[in-house]
Amino acid sequence: QPSFSDDFRELLDYADGLSRLEVWANGDTPEDAQRARSFGARGIGLCRTEHMFMQADRLPVMQEMVASVTKEERIEALSKLKVMQKEDFVGIFRAMEGLPVTVRLLDPPLHEFLPKVPEMRERLEALEAEGKGDGPEARKIRVLIQRAESLKEANPMLGFRGCRLGIIYPEIYEMQVEAIFEATVELMSQGVQVYPDIMMPLVGTKEEMRRLREMVDSKAKEFEARLGGEIPYMVGTMIEVPRAALVAGELAEDAEFFSFGTNDLTQTTFGYSRDDAEGKFLAEYVRIHVLPDNPFHVLDRSGVGRLMELAVREGRQTRPDIQIGICGEHGGNPKSIAFCHKLGLKYVSCSPFRVPVARLAAAHAALGLID
Ligand code: PEP
Ligand code: MG
Repeated sequence: QPSFSDDFRELLDYADGLSRLEVWANGDTPEDAQRARSFGARGIGLCRTEHMFMQADRLPVMQEMVASVTKEERIEALSKLKVMQKEDFVGIFRAMEGLPVTVRLLDPPLHEFLPKVPEMRERLEALEAEGKGDGPEARKIRVLIQRAESLKEANPMLGFRGCRLGIIYPEIYEMQVEAIFEATVELMSQGVQVYPDIMMPLVGTKEEMRRLREMVDSKAKEFEARLGGEIPYMVGTMIEVPRAALVAGELAEDAEFFSFGTNDLTQTTFGYSRDDAEGKFLAEYVRIHVLPDNPFHVLDRSGVGRLMELAVREGRQTRPDIQIGICGEHGGNPKSIAFCHKLGLKYVSCSPFRVPVARLAAAHAALGLID
């Protein structure tokens, strides 16, 4: 629980009354969700599900899935992951009862889940030296090495990740959607109010959006039949590659919400690596006025902000009531929050610890105190 004084709490509530923007939080665990709620977040704007697979007890099962040769093997590993993933969602939905939770389906390149190849080779050599080169562990390591090499890409951030995984291996996203709906149905049957919003990463074409939406809708039908009632879910997409902003009007045919992933959108618009966001070169560019601000911190109309304006306009043309927010790091930056206010977004979503500052910034923006 944050130890805010009563005065500060009162100030934040007063600020909320002035704001047009809501402040939501990014969080991947029930603890994050509880913290977000205690800081005053009005929803979870980004639950990155990949973090759930990185935990020590899940990684071996994830590796089993990535190393699978047949679809049957993959499905068996996925069914184990589903049980774990469902428990995560139950915890998060419970912590956020009555508020929306935006769950993003798996995003990172699959090879990130595999051990590093040199480490695996070292282990293999050790096994061979012990005369266990034909044993089950050595066999498994060989499959993992081969899979890691086949998944290796020169630039994995631009490669086989995001919804591309869900299109090529539908069973991965189906598992996640089932885990979301299983958790939802379980809680709704107990009278808990759950609002799951399912978000697709890295979408850039209408066809990607359409296929994924159809998959979610068909799963929803199955679970609604099981529940004997409607599940108040939405399906939407991140806008995080320039093409998504350009074809936002088409994406809105199948997306009930957009969330700007400005980390990737900045990387792909400027061609700067997001890993260099805090590096020397951008700071120097700002110092010598080649750039007005670090584009990974501040949105403006000359760059990523222009694409956002376009996406908002086109999206609303197709679907006037489309819900639009932002979940990239900019969502916690006061100047960028002012930009989002002017764009008329519904919410900014930031790290739980930034929520109080973002609530004040949203009020400042409404009062015209930040530009
Ligand atoms: C983004 O790209 O802005 C985003 C929120 O997604 P991630 O940081 O997980 O790529
Ligand atoms: Mg992203």
